[in-house]
Amino acid sequence: MNFLVGLTGGIGSGKTTVADIFTSFGVAIVDTDAIAHELTGPRGGAMEAIAEAFGPGVLLPQGGLDRAAMRRVAFSDPEAKRRLEGILHPLIRSETERRCVAMAWAPYVMLVVPLLVESGVYRQRVDRVLVVDCNESTQVERVIARSGLTAEEVRAIMATQASREERLAVADDVILNEGDRAELEDRILPLHRRYLELAEVAGRHLTQR
Ligand code: ADP
Repeated sequence: MNFLVGLTGGIGSGKTTVADIFTSFGVAIVDTDAIAHELTGPRGGAMEAIAEAFGPGVLLPQGGLDRAAMRRVAFSDPEAKRRLEGILHPLIRSETERRCVAMAWAPYVMLVVPLLVESGVYRQRVDRVLVVDCNESTQVERVIARSGLTAEEVRAIMATQASREERLAVADDVILNEGDRAELEDRILPLHRRYLELAEVAGRHLTQR
């Protein structure tokens, strides 16, 4: 199995932006959030079970998950949130595993896991944890600009995630993302080189066997 770098960070910290830059360096990415979106899109692999568990009120006309409706249900009912996670998490894990295996050619794979710090499973699975870090006020500003949520709604989501300190405590590497994209690229390149070296030492991708 490849050398696996887990990329995490709070909502709006810049995970997607950082993953895109690693992609531009030729790194293989597996994104658990993207997998979750696929599973809950029209004809997604989780939709039958979700419709059965929560009824038509959480479905969009095309059959995908109505995320706003589901969020309202899950925030008000912890049991519903657990049921949804019970459906989604095993499917996300098995699809993640399948994609990582399919990338056996890659020197290393970057696994994007928003809740990596909160989830013991992925933490144990990765060889290294990379945290994208920024001020909480920056997170709020970015998510408001991106989504149109209110500051209170963003803070409510952040309250369900690990704190900045908890994330930094489990980080092997940290990328501070407070500046512009050029600055971010300058910080990522040395990390990419380091991961190539570490992966080579680990010697687990296909060409090394
Ligand atoms: P996450 O995936 O962690 O939620 P994103 O990468 O989507 O975060 O970033 C949140 C928003 O902030 C996006 O709209 C993104 O374009 C913007 N953003 C993130 N980092 C930067 C940066 N360094 N410079 C400019 N915009 C950024």
